[in-house]
Amino acid sequence: VPIGVVIPRTPEDVITTVALCREHGVPILSRGGGTSLAGQTCNHAVVIDWSKYLNRILSIDPERRIAVVEPGVVLDDLRDAAEVHGLTFGPDPATHNRNSLGGMIGNNSCGVHSVMAGRTADNVEQLEILTYDGLELTVGATGEEELATIIRDGGRRGEIYAGMRDIRDQFAERIRACYPDIPRRVSGYNLAQLLPENGFNVARALVGSEGTCVLVLAAHLNLVPNPPHRRLAVLGFEDVYAAADRVPDVLAHGPVGLEGVDDRLVEYMRRRNLHPDALAHLPEGNGWLLVEMGGRSAEEAEGRARAVVDDLRQAGTLVDAYVAEGEEAKKIWEVREAGLAATAHVPGMADAWPGWEDAAIDPARAGDYLRDFRKLLERYDYHGSVYGHFGDGCIHVRIDFDLPAAPGWSSTAASWTRPQTWCSPMGGPSPVSTATARPAPSSCPRCSARS
Ligand SMILES: Cc1cc2nc3c(=O)[nH]c(=O)nc-3n(C[C@H](O)[C@H](O)[C@H](O)COP(=O)(O)OP(=O)(O)OC[C@H]3O[C@@H](n4cnc5c(N)ncnc54)[C@H](O)[C@@H]3O)c2cc1C
Repeated sequence: VPIGVVIPRTPEDVITTVALCREHGVPILSRGGGTSLAGQTCNHAVVIDWSKYLNRILSIDPERRIAVVEPGVVLDDLRDAAEVHGLTFGPDPATHNRNSLGGMIGNNSCGVHSVMAGRTADNVEQLEILTYDGLELTVGATGEEELATIIRDGGRRGEIYAGMRDIRDQFAERIRACYPDIPRRVSGYNLAQLLPENGFNVARALVGSEGTCVLVLAAHLNLVPNPPHRRLAVLGFEDVYAAADRVPDVLAHGPVGLEGVDDRLVEYMRRRNLHPDALAHLPEGNGWLLVEMGGRSAEEAEGRARAVVDDLRQAGTLVDAYVAEGEEAKKIWEVREAGLAATAHVPGMADAWPGWEDAAIDPARAGDYLRDFRKLLERYDYHGSVYGHFGDGCIHVRIDFDLPAAPGWSSTAASWTRPQTWCSPMGGPSPVSTATARPAPSSCPRCSARS
């Protein structure tokens, strides 16, 4: 339960709120659309809700492709305003009609079109921020000379920048060696952005910090060209693994969206009678890739989508495929978008849970990952459909973990003890007994650091 909720009308209201909270040593928490899945906007704190009033688009510069927004702006409102100039904001979570830009910055959000435009961090130019101690700053990329000047000038600002520089200098090699090079690395603090090769970008380093470091008062965002024409290549494969194996070949064509679904999703949709007319539009196969190609003209988009189909057909990997547009393409997207609804409660199956959601992987190895993952599920007699942003390496799954029946479970959540067996998730040691002590932290295979 929050200590209180503040709905500021102006940035000055926020500054006053933070000053009062600081005076009383009270914690604060930002809230945008409140659509986060992991409790990011719930806490015993003074909750600052940016969505009601601080939701203005302050400017759009089509030449520089920069939009300046208050944090409460809903993504679709920005996209509608940018669309007038043939531009868009690339990352588009499924909650795009209600999530805010402040929340996207908090979570480093991604979406179907991140495959063409990257994560939110890749699309932030500058942030105007407020710290708990009342300091207002505009942050972004910082040249080495500028960094030295800021630190030399001292004060609280100099102190903060010196602290960040020290973190960078102390951990640079470990960050380079250990941060996985995958497009969906959105967990944890974005320290890689402080490396010299990334321009000591304080704005991008703050993206993904879930409101734990600063409040974002305004954001300067990069917009990208929005291809006015789209076609959808719908590709059917023997199974989802064969589909995932072809992700690198499809990526070489520069899609604006690349999603995958498996036959279990289709089966679950049938059982729930979800979008039966959409399912009728799927080509033959047991695993599918949906490849959205863009173009400046309808012919260009069509040609690019056909090239994807032709290439894969020549490689002999397709069971069936066609190019969809307009209403037909919309129908096919319904299959992908039904994912969450279709997999949560399937008639005749135990409830499935989001404990392994949003697995971030190397898209070039999506097929290997899915094969190993399915073997792991089978080992424990678990079930679940795999689908999601294959082109970006982000896989969704809900698993029918039998939580209430698990050994050690008691209805009082506090009395959970470790189950009979556990094992390292992917190809690690085989199950060990509960007598085994929690293993010592292992060494990172790439830099020998203790992880
Ligand atoms: C059905 C469903 C589908 C989803 N699909 C996706 C998806 O495809 N991709 C994806 O990335 N996410 C997805 N999400 C998660 C979530 O919707 C997104 O991450 C979204 O961008 C969060 O925006 P929000 O405005 O709701 O943020 P909130 O939940 O309000 O906040 C998110 C974080 O940002 C912080 N924050 C908010 N405003 C500020 C501010 N002004 N200053 C500092 N910190 C701030 C908050 O404290 C919090 O830590 C999904 C969620 C649901 C329920």
